[in-house]
Amino acid sequence: MNQRTHTWLAIRAIALLEDSDGPKGLIKILKDNVRGAAIGSWIPDLQDTKIGSGDIDNHILKMKPYTGSNKSRFIKKRDVLFKELGKERKVCEFLDGWDSVLGHAWWNKAYKAEPRPGQHLANRSMALTTTLIDQLILGDEKVASLVPGTVRFANKLDKNARSRMEEVSMYCFMLSHFVADSCQPCHCDARKLSGYSNGLHKEMEANWSKIVGTYFDKKKYLANTDASHDVLNKAREIDAKFDIQFSKVVPDLQAKDPWLEIINICRASFAVASVLVPPNVIPYGEESKTSFKTVFNTRPKLLKDLNRMVMHDAVLNIAILWNNIWSKLE
Ligand SMILES: [Zn+2]
Repeated sequence: MNQRTHTWLAIRAIALLEDSDGPKGLIKILKDNVRGAAIGSWIPDLQDTKIGSGDIDNHILKMKPYTGSNKSRFIKKRDVLFKELGKERKVCEFLDGWDSVLGHAWWNKAYKAEPRPGQHLANRSMALTTTLIDQLILGDEKVASLVPGTVRFANKLDKNARSRMEEVSMYCFMLSHFVADSCQPCHCDARKLSGYSNGLHKEMEANWSKIVGTYFDKKKYLANTDASHDVLNKAREIDAKFDIQFSKVVPDLQAKDPWLEIINICRASFAVASVLVPPNVIPYGEESKTSFKTVFNTRPKLLKDLNRMVMHDAVLNIAILWNNIWSKLE
């Protein structure tokens, strides 16, 4: 996703936490820093971070059919995945609606990614969630006044060693980047057609940022002086452009930990990529490319459904992951 889409998704997730009566302390940390820390939502895409979390392999989990040993470990049946993703996410509804494209045989096969060691969306998200829990436990007085419970040794720390609200907030925004990337189908499909400059990926993202509009565009947003309350309202206004209705329910993490949750989200995104360009049109392992026009021009409903679903789930998933961090402290 592009910068302005990432920024909107994260800010919209703060508004969703507010609308769903989420944890007040967490909302305050994020909302008070909605202008200063939002840069965190696109930092992982900046060139200077490429030696850190910005390394491109951290932004993907590209799957393809797997034929090696222990195959059953890499089969995720449709009903099992849908159950583990829960009722609030729209991706299951989307896949249900376009079910005839994939069929049962597709779901009964093994699929696996071959990431570079340690580098993929689930690893990155897990690392950040654990770091954020530490940051919140070791927060300075302002953070400590919002976090439930007391940390007995916190006052023994050098006060400059304790994390500040701005810092915690920026890392939350950084986490939002990786959660949102896991909802982009092209980030989860190993076919060449899903590569950034191969006709579909970049164009899908340009389409999203065009719909999001310019309020959250980098230059403009960095100079923004609106009150945080108004920024959140601007984020809510964009729902209508995607025809999204949020249910104001943010469920708990459905899987056992954030790592498994992101793996499941990526698996669903891989299925979505396989709906957009079915394997009987361009088989896995084939080098052919396609184009945005070829995929969507004759299927406008597919594009509308896709946009609504990806944006809804990205916002919800960010809120779920943030909430989960906070729930560990309670
Ligand atoms: Zn990214």
